[in-house]
Amino acid sequence: TPKALVAGNWKMNGVAANLAEIEKLNDLIAGGGANCDVLICPPFTLIHQSVQAAGERVEIGGQDCHANISGAHTGDVSAAMIKDQGCSYVIVGHSERRTDHGETDEMVSSKADAAQKEELVAIICVGETEAERDAGDALSVVTSQVRGSIPADATADNTVIAYEPVWAIGTGRTPTADDVAEVHAAIRNVLTERFGDAGNSVRILYGGSVKPENARELMSVANVNGALVGGASLKADSFYGIVQAY
Ligand code: 13P
Repeated sequence: TPKALVAGNWKMNGVAANLAEIEKLNDLIAGGGANCDVLICPPFTLIHQSVQAAGERVEIGGQDCHANISGAHTGDVSAAMIKDQGCSYVIVGHSERRTDHGETDEMVSSKADAAQKEELVAIICVGETEAERDAGDALSVVTSQVRGSIPADATADNTVIAYEPVWAIGTGRTPTADDVAEVHAAIRNVLTERFGDAGNSVRILYGGSVKPENARELMSVANVNGALVGGASLKADSFYGIVQAY
């Protein structure tokens, strides 16, 4: 099994005053240890300072990137710019971007491709809506998103998949361990079809209402290789509580 990754997605939260949480997180890990990689994805405005605050044990990533490396795209940020600031990862295709910005699998694939060409690891997000789950379509929706969102040139090393059921994000609701196991197994199958044996080394994160209280159970499910955490990543203490599941 791959080394786990516990990633925090700050979304559109955080100002300079919050950088102390990143320093504190690094201190907690340095003092208490962590058997996983730890990543924080702050808003772009804080990336430079976050890299400086992060110390040895915390990595910093972006929450999105443009599919092009530069050019006339007002307000957008490229993978090259994110890499240049000292980041190692970028999230692409988060459900909030798929909804708010109409991002399709094809667009997500192009963004992941740009990230990987800049030697960033792409964290590709997928997940069904509540209506899709109720209709019995969760597995077909998620496997189709995974197939459509991984770029042609991706490798097992520069790809992470995050399964985030849309209905579990920010709601306090989580799928059962059995439901998580079923979806993660289906994603694993797509990955081994795609990458062969190396597909077993791709990390598949679970995201959606992960907290210190439920992290141990969720992280012990087969094929769960880490977490993508929203709300509980904003405070070092609660995020470290999730890191300690490893
Ligand atoms: P919450 O942990 O706040 O539910 O958010 C999950 C998420 O969307 C992380 O990307």
